[in-house]
Amino acid sequence: MSELAIHVLGAGSAGATELLPSSFVLEQERQPKLLIDCGPGVLGAYKARYGQLPDAVYISHPHMDHVADLEKLFIAACFNDKPAPKIYVPAPLVPRLTDMFDNHPAQLAEGGANFWQVLQLVAVKSGFWLSGLNFRVTPARHHQPDFSFSLSLPGRFFFTADTRPIPEVLHHLAAQGEPIFHDAGLIANPSHSGVEDLKREYDARIWHQLHLYHYTSEKDAAGMAAEGFKVVKAGETFELPVLAQPT
Ligand SMILES: [Zn+2]
Repeated sequence: MSELAIHVLGAGSAGATELLPSSFVLEQERQPKLLIDCGPGVLGAYKARYGQLPDAVYISHPHMDHVADLEKLFIAACFNDKPAPKIYVPAPLVPRLTDMFDNHPAQLAEGGANFWQVLQLVAVKSGFWLSGLNFRVTPARHHQPDFSFSLSLPGRFFFTADTRPIPEVLHHLAAQGEPIFHDAGLIANPSHSGVEDLKREYDARIWHQLHLYHYTSEKDAAGMAAEGFKVVKAGETFELPVLAQPT
């Protein structure tokens, strides 16, 4: 069983201008394997820690605070001779991301660069393989159907992506005690979970698994911690548990 960890690059929400947008990196044997979301400023933080561009990126949903730095990654990848970074995208999001980033005859004045060639699109549905790991992709609840998608390795970690509570998912698919990195702010809104939502929607037996991210300010983070929840901070690294039982 390989040694896995989740490193937190950013834990802020779109409106948290003093915090980096929420973004995580799955590390395997201390090496970065998968960047999870790529909002503004994330690529710089990634390069500062790892000294390279990401080889693989998972996109949870097409809000700018989760995808804006794909543009920067595209430009950087145009001008190096490394293999194209693989961009794992839930299939329903492919048209949206194409509209956002590839709806133009030429993205570079120099020409000769197709967006989904410089960045290698890997459309995914229920899951995908990377580095010997079988990731699971499941729908979250954010704005509308087929818009935001959670990512998990059963028994190792569950990343909710932006979402309202998803008890029907977490009570069944994150039931081995693994850490659950969960979208939450101190106060709920129609798009995101709040502390009161978590208490109401989730069985208390999984509260200890919750690691909250996507908050608006350090003050809100402190408020959620005061409610008894774990709150993740940029720069933290979480060693992931060994798989309890094969699924
Ligand atoms: Zn969002």
